Amino acid sequence: MTIQNQGGNNPRHAKLQSVQTKLLINGEWVDGVDGGKIATIDPYDGTVIAEIAEAREADVDLAVEAAKAAFPSWSKMAAHDRGRLLLKLADRIEEDTEYLAYLEAIDTGHPINDCLRLDVPRTVLCYRYFGGIADKVEGSVIPVDAGFLNYVKREPIGVVGQIVPWNFPLMFTSWKMAPALAAGNAVVIKPSEITPLTTLRIGELMMEVGFPPGVVNIVTGYGHTAGQRISDHPEIGKISFTGSTDTGRRIVQASAGNLKKVQLELGGKGPNIVFEDANIPAAVGGSAFAIFHNQGQACIAGSRIMLHESIADNFLEKFTALAGSIRLGDPLDPNTEMGPLTSELHQKRVLSFVDVAKEQGGEVLCGGAGPESEALESGYFVKPTIVRAKYTDRVAQEEVFGPFVTVLTFKDDEEALKIANSTDYGLGAGLWTRDITRAHRMADNLHAGMVWINCYKRVHPGSPFGGVGQSGYGREMGFDVMREYTQAKSVWVNVDAQIPPFYQR
Ligand code: NAD
Repeated sequence: MTIQNQGGNNPRHAKLQSVQTKLLINGEWVDGVDGGKIATIDPYDGTVIAEIAEAREADVDLAVEAAKAAFPSWSKMAAHDRGRLLLKLADRIEEDTEYLAYLEAIDTGHPINDCLRLDVPRTVLCYRYFGGIADKVEGSVIPVDAGFLNYVKREPIGVVGQIVPWNFPLMFTSWKMAPALAAGNAVVIKPSEITPLTTLRIGELMMEVGFPPGVVNIVTGYGHTAGQRISDHPEIGKISFTGSTDTGRRIVQASAGNLKKVQLELGGKGPNIVFEDANIPAAVGGSAFAIFHNQGQACIAGSRIMLHESIADNFLEKFTALAGSIRLGDPLDPNTEMGPLTSELHQKRVLSFVDVAKEQGGEVLCGGAGPESEALESGYFVKPTIVRAKYTDRVAQEEVFGPFVTVLTFKDDEEALKIANSTDYGLGAGLWTRDITRAHRMADNLHAGMVWINCYKRVHPGSPFGGVGQSGYGREMGFDVMREYTQAKSVWVNVDAQIPPFYQR
């Protein structure tokens, strides 16, 4: 059931023809057992968009029960039929582009243009890619001892739990659900309590295109209750988590009870290295995209710009001018290049890092505050912020997760590598150079799960995404992820083997 517009009198919410506010359990839209609600807030003006049903432990239990019941027939369905449903979903999402982009913009603060050009098309691409992969997950035949046939099947795990953060809710739910479903698993997914709207809309579209009841269950709830229950639930065989490193650690502990498979996509502190031979205009634009796109709320953000000392002044002059010219505004305005941060709490956290930087001698070159404009004062904005800092400073080591970038200089490749590899994280890294040998040497030696050469933040469902060190383990996307969502079963057949006699009497 769809609840009609809850947007009240806010004209920004007038296009909210309908918005789903309930939990999806066993193909039905239901209230939480305890009847609790969570308000989802528009970060542009702080108004309530809708009250969403709150899932608690008992709701997660019901969702897992439904998923468990749905799993046998879903996993035995012909793989191409599962794929076809994902392809139909991709088409349906594409048709719904405008509405999904609108929901994402009001719920997260992403500029509508970004939603239309990146979030929705990448989501479509992801469901399409994994729709196509569903019937291509092959097993193998192993050459073993004469007379025996040994074949290995990849089997789905069963019920998988998926926990998603608030920064790219639409895209990240596709990264999680598409491969898990293609592999034949049943899903219990929890979006972030801060940004549930597009996940609920995807649930509606899934029901529309004919996903069987219980195959996907959506539990909108808080982390310490619903998220915790997903993590410790004895019937969930695997958990895929994207979020902060601290929460990741908690999930690993909670999952120990039934020894779940765990896949973690955690924080990052991406080094973005500009060498003296770089194409400077390209590096300036690319570095701005690396840190300022989505208000810097990206795990793979290029949040540490490292400049060769000979080009630093030239680069910084252009880069600070560009940062200062970024158009902050209403996410629904197609001219807006940067929206508000997704929550007030997060805005305060990001701004607190300005003081942290200053305490350790950092110099704010640009931004460092909310915008002066009265029109923007009720939104959770932070101006693009550039801080000169030492590589050992807290702001150059800890994830800020906002439009906040540190800059420093280096003198040679060796020093660049030392600084780049100096954090506990190892997610994305970028470098700008025309020297192909240097580019590959750096890519080989950077402590990172992904490296971008003369570009930044490229992703594709065919390419594995994930980190090393405290950025997590396991991979999303690429063919690798089909291994994450399946397990090997080795089957031995005595075809014509003469087995030496043991225990014969
Ligand atoms: P978060 O860890 O606070 O929350 C992420 C999700 O976990 C939310 O759905 C939340 O409700 C849930 N959660 C919170 N506590 C939980 C608990 N005890 N048990 C189970 N679930 C719990 O992170 P966030 O603030 O939503 O997102 C920002 C973080 O996510 C940043 O650190 C960012 O780097 C990281 N991130 C990583 C990637 C990646 O792919 N590596 C991508 C995006 C974001």
